[in-house]
Amino acid sequence: MPPRTNKQTQRRVNSVEALARREICAAGRRLRELGFLPAAAGNLSVRLGDGTILATPSGVPKGELAPRQLIVLCMSNEPRSARRGRGNGGTQTAALRERSGQARVSSEIQMHLRIYALRPDVRAICHAHPPVATGFAAAGRALDRAVLGETAILLGAVPLAPFGAPGTQGLPESITPYVPRANAILLANHGVVAYGEDLRTALQRMELVEHCARVTLVAELAGGARLLSRAQVEALVAARPRYGFAPLPPDAVRWLTAEDV
Ligand SMILES: [Zn+2]
Repeated sequence: MPPRTNKQTQRRVNSVEALARREICAAGRRLRELGFLPAAAGNLSVRLGDGTILATPSGVPKGELAPRQLIVLCMSNEPRSARRGRGNGGTQTAALRERSGQARVSSEIQMHLRIYALRPDVRAICHAHPPVATGFAAAGRALDRAVLGETAILLGAVPLAPFGAPGTQGLPESITPYVPRANAILLANHGVVAYGEDLRTALQRMELVEHCARVTLVAELAGGARLLSRAQVEALVAARPRYGFAPLPPDAVRWLTAEDV
């Protein structure tokens, strides 16, 4: 096959970005329909092939976004247009803000940038406030009890990061120890962040976290969950590659099993 010309490469980059824009808007609608994004809460992002990040803006309901409203950031957390525009007065940044009305970067994007920096395999992140999982986070409880076989395979144990105020370095700092060891994290007194190799995976993990929280809650109301044994959990985790999932890291957050309680 002949090598790609610069024009062809640029066209491909543009079409990847256009697709990611549509996917983020669809994911925002889905999370909003599920009741995971009250008011203008939450944020979503995708790492593009050129190392930049496509992210939702602050202050806008994420179920009502149009593709053109999304912001492209470089890893240093500034709009790409600002970086490019330094030499010409940054006019593109001004144009972007005007066009989208209120294309402000979310203060919580620092959390996304920290995850991308720590996990080269991650290409998409969802942050939302699903009510039952957030209730567990507010109660100071991780979702690490081996209640469901499917979450052992599909998700992994979900740790609880201590409270870090949004808009401060406290938020990215609070999740840092858990990012390499889990695929989703409860944020104390706040919400949930889930991530994966693509947006579909990150979204599924967010849904699984809330499902796990609901089932755990109901099991407790019904008299207490009977946890899987350590051997059962190990067999489920070992089966991940059979389902097409990468093995969990050796120091993955540990499930609490029947032997632990
Ligand atoms: Zn939040």
